[in-house]
Amino acid sequence: MSTTQELQHIDRTNVWHPFTQMAEWAQQDQLIIESGKGNWLMDTEGNQYLDGVSSLWTNVHGHCVPEIDKAVQEQLAKIAHTTMLGLASVPATELAKRLVDILPAGLTRVFYSDSGSTAVEVALKIAFQFQQQAEKGDSDRIKFISMQNAYHGDTIGSVSVGGMDLFHATYKHMLFQGEKVITPYCYRCPFGKDKSNCDHECFQHVEDALEAHGSTAAAFVIEPLVQGAAGQLMHPEGYLTHVRNLCTRHNIILIADEVAVGFGKTGTMFACEQENITPDIICLAKGISAGYLPLAATVTSEEIYNGFLGNHEEFKTFFHGHTYTGNPLACAAAIANLDYFENNNVMEKLQPKIAHLQNRLTAMLELKHIGEIRNRGVMTGIELVQDKATKAPFATAEKIGHKVCMEARKHGVIIRNLGDVIVLMPPLSITLSEIDLLCNATTEAIKTVTE
Ligand code: PMP
Repeated sequence: MSTTQELQHIDRTNVWHPFTQMAEWAQQDQLIIESGKGNWLMDTEGNQYLDGVSSLWTNVHGHCVPEIDKAVQEQLAKIAHTTMLGLASVPATELAKRLVDILPAGLTRVFYSDSGSTAVEVALKIAFQFQQQAEKGDSDRIKFISMQNAYHGDTIGSVSVGGMDLFHATYKHMLFQGEKVITPYCYRCPFGKDKSNCDHECFQHVEDALEAHGSTAAAFVIEPLVQGAAGQLMHPEGYLTHVRNLCTRHNIILIADEVAVGFGKTGTMFACEQENITPDIICLAKGISAGYLPLAATVTSEEIYNGFLGNHEEFKTFFHGHTYTGNPLACAAAIANLDYFENNNVMEKLQPKIAHLQNRLTAMLELKHIGEIRNRGVMTGIELVQDKATKAPFATAEKIGHKVCMEARKHGVIIRNLGDVIVLMPPLSITLSEIDLLCNATTEAIKTVTE
């Protein structure tokens, strides 16, 4: 095997990493991970790190889970790939039923793809085509309504409905236009309110937006409860229900992007459960395969599926499907993931861990430069500020958030930053003592960098 130095050289010379500050990245020696076990990562020098963000990506049960390893190996011995274009496979078929059984009632048709971005892209196309077909190709419902600051992926459709300003500025002429709703952000209320005079203007705002654009919208896209990449922004209670009701009122398809929040991360298997709503389409990825193989699913209702059926005389279809759609290896991993959830009572065992994490986070609020801590389940955002009283942020050029993450590595913990919001998203398998380690290391790193 190559030495660490050789790998770092190749990384700098031949690899193009996504979403990095590229000029800076090119000068750095990267931490190269060689293996993982449980909640820990090992680098090529034999150093160990607690993976404090593994569930942000996919590894909800940590790394190298023996039961899931075994299921993937068994599937590998049978067949690694077969197409869904004209054939069906055992794992893809069985997984569809397993998903339908645990999703909100009424979501019964599973369309597979291979990343969160494609799950969203599929949802947008299904919604658009369904609305057009409902009015024989002549519907005015051609727009999408979505949230400011939202992240739904990096394909053209998912960027279009995303709300990241920099993405929109860069790809402006490639994107389709839509309407953006102001995201509730209680710590810095965009409507100029605070806790004492909050009258839920964000609820009225979304209602007005749908009143204005409801008749020309195909769908409304939302990350239920938590906008992850926006900085772990948590919607106020009842907001999702309000959006659900508005979509019903205006005949708009509600697309719930549970790519980040799904599979236990908000404390329930799916975030929609917490407000007891059923979207018309749900997008799943990341945690679906517990980090083993690329897999995503867009799941919708019988009513929407039936809109694509047609009769025997006409050719009707949904124009989408890739080579790896419903890959059997990935589906076998996803079934083993769901088995793991069930057999190990993962969601039940998670509750005391969430309580412990919340206690530790509350104590951290005393730090001089922590303005707010947002938490739901294991999803946590710690917003760092220059001045607590005025909420004034640090200067962007100081890169405080990034420095905190680098400092945490010295304590053997991997965390992530979104600007000056520190993101903790440990695996659901984290232990109470590992939560202590995660919070202690984060506290020390914040103190060292900011005080
Ligand atoms: N939707 C949400 C809410 C996400 O957080 C992400 C990824 N961060 C995506 C979609 C895109 O997923 P992927 O990176 O697998 O394409």
